[in-house]
Amino acid sequence: MDKYTLLKKHFGYDAFRYGQEAIIDHILDKKDVLAIMPTGGGKSLCYQIPGLIHENISLVISPLIALMKDQVDALIENGVSATYLNSSLTAQEEAEKLKAIEEGHVKIIYLAPERLLTQGFLKLSQSLTIDMVAVDEAHCISQWGHDFRPSYKNIPDFIKQLPARPVVTAFTATATSHVIEEIKSLLGLIDPFELTTGFDRKNLFYKVVKPNDRLRYVKDFLKVEFKEGSGIIYCSTRKTVESLRDKLKALKIPIGAYHGGMTSEERSDIQEAFMVDDLKVIIATNAFGMGIDKPDVRFVIHYNMPKNMEAYYQEAGRAGRDGRDSTCILMYAPSDIVKQKLMIASNYSDPQRDQLQRQNLQYLVNYCHTNGCLRNEITAYFGQANQRETCDACGNCLHDSEFVDMTLEAQKILSCIYRSQQRFGLSMIIKILRGSKDKRILDLKLNQISTYGICKEISEGGLRELIMNLIARGYIHMTVDQYPILKLTEASRVILKGEEAILIRKERLQSKTKTSIKKQNHPSNYDQGLYDLLTEKRKELATKMKVPLYVIFSNAVLEALASEMPKTKEGFLSIKGIGEKKYESYGKIFLEIIEKYN
Ligand code: ADP
Repeated sequence: MDKYTLLKKHFGYDAFRYGQEAIIDHILDKKDVLAIMPTGGGKSLCYQIPGLIHENISLVISPLIALMKDQVDALIENGVSATYLNSSLTAQEEAEKLKAIEEGHVKIIYLAPERLLTQGFLKLSQSLTIDMVAVDEAHCISQWGHDFRPSYKNIPDFIKQLPARPVVTAFTATATSHVIEEIKSLLGLIDPFELTTGFDRKNLFYKVVKPNDRLRYVKDFLKVEFKEGSGIIYCSTRKTVESLRDKLKALKIPIGAYHGGMTSEERSDIQEAFMVDDLKVIIATNAFGMGIDKPDVRFVIHYNMPKNMEAYYQEAGRAGRDGRDSTCILMYAPSDIVKQKLMIASNYSDPQRDQLQRQNLQYLVNYCHTNGCLRNEITAYFGQANQRETCDACGNCLHDSEFVDMTLEAQKILSCIYRSQQRFGLSMIIKILRGSKDKRILDLKLNQISTYGICKEISEGGLRELIMNLIARGYIHMTVDQYPILKLTEASRVILKGEEAILIRKERLQSKTKTSIKKQNHPSNYDQGLYDLLTEKRKELATKMKVPLYVIFSNAVLEALASEMPKTKEGFLSIKGIGEKKYESYGKIFLEIIEKYN
């Protein structure tokens, strides 16, 4: 069967998305592949379809143990013979699965990297013909990435000991050039076909806010903006997770907490409840990680700033996997930056790595302070050239705030850095500008320089914001040492000479808590009554089968059913996302509901 027929038959789609077909063709041509596609871009199909076409076995190595069962269940629901091996299985379950593989009943095996070099699997792999090894979340092999998994280093050794080298393919959503080079060399990809589909997620609305009262902001958001689907709120510590959960209890939204301090049972219960919509919002630390594969996450709020741009992009990227408009709000406060810096200092590894971590953090700090397009900031970080100056779909491009001219203040700051001989960091510069009587200032006689106390009228927070903004825009350079120092740059001169104005958003200097999020676009022409009946049925089936809701049907499919109201098999199969196997399993049940409804 050709790839188009398989796409329709097993997955219910008529056409490939950009990049998918080229990747599939190269794999079938026995060429290694490195694919960098954003979350929700459709990476899975790129190895699942070759997996179906290959004569023998395809291995998918994935760190997402919590998700494997769901992924495999979804494949089986789509009529694909797949299985998985990971530490969650009992000895008997594992034996059954190995037997099914041995007997040739399986085409696609999902495997945790820890399993690769176990005796049982090594022995079995000698007798199998493996056509392809697909490495999902390939950035986990890189020490420089934020999700390093030591067991990923086993992959090349495993491949080497196979009787014949299979095609090796690597997939990731996040990769800086450094990480890409590591993936290629560590995995030993041979002249791979490389494809980057871009890092821009058009359906995500990015916004940065600096509210005085974060709790209030979140409450307002949940009350006013949150209408459907689910959401995730990331906090930096377990304590914040728990206290925020307690404070939001009164809202009457089913909210759960998730962090590494909970038992694995508690965590999997929470995740399960989230997947079947019993919990609408999860407040979590970054332990609520890569395995979160819920398609209808409508918002991701960062209550605290994460450690770097890559982590942010990955976490925020859990919103809108189904392609619908979703919101990503990053809240930050100067204290977050300090906390992250302290964290880097306390997890000291080696000077080079520490410096890289500080640099990566600084990218995110700049993101928080830029006046420019947030989407452009993100794509530029990943080395993708910006096509347009504004995107008209991020908090900065759609701002409705007033700008204040802070050129004079910016000149004062730059001249203070110059007069104090470019020897001090942010806090000291602020102290000098505000005329602090701090002992260190007096000891160093900094109260005698001409810029001492020239910004008394600006609050400490306002000055900090302004300096951060100047750093983000390259008018000040902040070194990436453990104790960063502010220095002038070539560009500083333009400001000092008054050739360019510095405009800052008014609310950044004052901080308001008002939320203003782009209206989410709900598909409007489906019948809500029918949709509710269909979701009820889906929930019943998913609970019975112990699978996430989307394994049965995605929200988009149910909406299409509630809008098209098909009456026949053909009509049912014409809905995007419904393949033959799905029709066989659920066609009758859902057609009956539609018929009765009419
Ligand atoms: P990723 O692994 O890249 O994050 P997935 O493989 O989970 O993304 O795909 C995201 C969603 O897009 C899934 O719901 C998937 O079924 C859907 N999808 C993938 N390919 C296509 C396609 N060609 N047409 C329509 N939807 C697709």
